[in-house]
Amino acid sequence: MHKDVIIIGGGAAGFFAAINIAEQNPSLKVAILERGAAGLTKVKVSGGGRCNVTHAEFIPQELIQNYPRGEKELLGPFHQFMTGDTIEWFEKRGVELKIEDDGRMFPVSNSSQTIIDCFLNEAEKYQVEVFYNHSVKSLEQKNELFHIETSQGNFSSEKILIATGSNPKIWKLLEDLRHTISQPVPSLFTFNIEDDRIKDIPGVVAKDVEVKVLETDLWSEGPLLITHWGMSAPSILKLSAFGALEFAKRDYKFQIEINFIKKSFEECLDTLKTLKQDLAKKTVFKSTQFELPKRLWHKLVLASNMVEDTRWADLNKLQLENLASQLTQAIFNVNGKSTFKEEFVTAGGVNLKEVNFKTFESKYIKNLFFAGEVLNIDAVTGGFNFQNAWTGAYIAAKSIAQ
Ligand SMILES: Cc1cc2nc3c(=O)[nH]c(=O)nc-3n(C[C@H](O)[C@H](O)[C@H](O)COP(=O)(O)OP(=O)(O)OC[C@H]3O[C@@H](n4cnc5c(N)ncnc54)[C@H](O)[C@@H]3O)c2cc1C
Repeated sequence: MHKDVIIIGGGAAGFFAAINIAEQNPSLKVAILERGAAGLTKVKVSGGGRCNVTHAEFIPQELIQNYPRGEKELLGPFHQFMTGDTIEWFEKRGVELKIEDDGRMFPVSNSSQTIIDCFLNEAEKYQVEVFYNHSVKSLEQKNELFHIETSQGNFSSEKILIATGSNPKIWKLLEDLRHTISQPVPSLFTFNIEDDRIKDIPGVVAKDVEVKVLETDLWSEGPLLITHWGMSAPSILKLSAFGALEFAKRDYKFQIEINFIKKSFEECLDTLKTLKQDLAKKTVFKSTQFELPKRLWHKLVLASNMVEDTRWADLNKLQLENLASQLTQAIFNVNGKSTFKEEFVTAGGVNLKEVNFKTFESKYIKNLFFAGEVLNIDAVTGGFNFQNAWTGAYIAAKSIAQ
């Protein structure tokens, strides 16, 4: 079967691109080849079923800082299509987005189905044909035509867009077509830590901590959540994204140093010395300080060679130093990772040097375009991964439609 444009992959980037191509150039016959019985499956489960569509960050230079891979390459594309354009795109099609306190943006309906319905309706409106259960098996370009073999028949087209996300089979096909693929490794995961200081206190949140990875330059700050298995929340997830390659190399075994109160050791020690005077008769255990959660304070106090009855007045120099050290430079051994259920992505994909970011076209193969996670681009959690898919898909669509 022949089409003018074939999109391989009916996920976020695939649908977004197909709709934009068909809308901008209605004379083109556009089809999506999707291996699943339904498309948009990741959109469905995204953001805990609410779909974190984008992030309320409207300055390209700031926005790119959320992309451990793709930061440099996305600056130009974000000047063409970014968060504000995404909001407008959905609004124009009757989908209103709302901003949450942390900047994440969701459909007002709080349901990813709203986004899926919007895409399916638009695809129908612009006569985009979607072939489900069509898994692409091979791909070649002969006489300026692409020949695509699928599990259910063959297709040909003048232009193709690859939007297959993190699919190893397609990466292998692209390698056969001369492209190089950066080794895929997981990104956005939580740290597994077994340690008495966090045992039995899952759900405890320290509002703003600093985390450093020892023997590296990696660090981050933000909220920290104690889980059943270790640690999570933005301070950890950001590190997992920016350190994805380093952590894979170390087989997810490394040490982190946490400053729970974001003060220097000396500053903390001075405060503790003052408290020793001011709270002399009280027990250290029961007088939580630095706005820390009570249960975390208890754990850190007990880890500083004290018992529940130890009073401030009884603290010796070593105990004061121990507590200051637990508060500002506590070392934890990370041993493994766990999946972050809201959003996980793969770092790795088509080498960014091989793509023209003015059009998202391959530098090696004319009329072959990429968008979304198939590229070696990924972001921290917060709606940035979808923004990459929308931006790439929109720009590729614009060049394809011309
Ligand atoms: C649980 C979860 C929650 C997430 N939540 C968020 C969120 O809230 N916000 C956010 O920004 N990001 C989120 N992400 C990340 C986001 O989903 C991805 O970055 C995004 O979906 C990438 O879009 P894509 O179109 O490149 O790939 P995908 O959406 O993965 O689509 C690829 C499509 O290609 C198809 N395909 C693959 N191989 C073939 C083949 N050989 N032939 C035919 N079709 C093929 C697949 O079946 C799939 O439908 C989440 C990820 C997960 C796993």
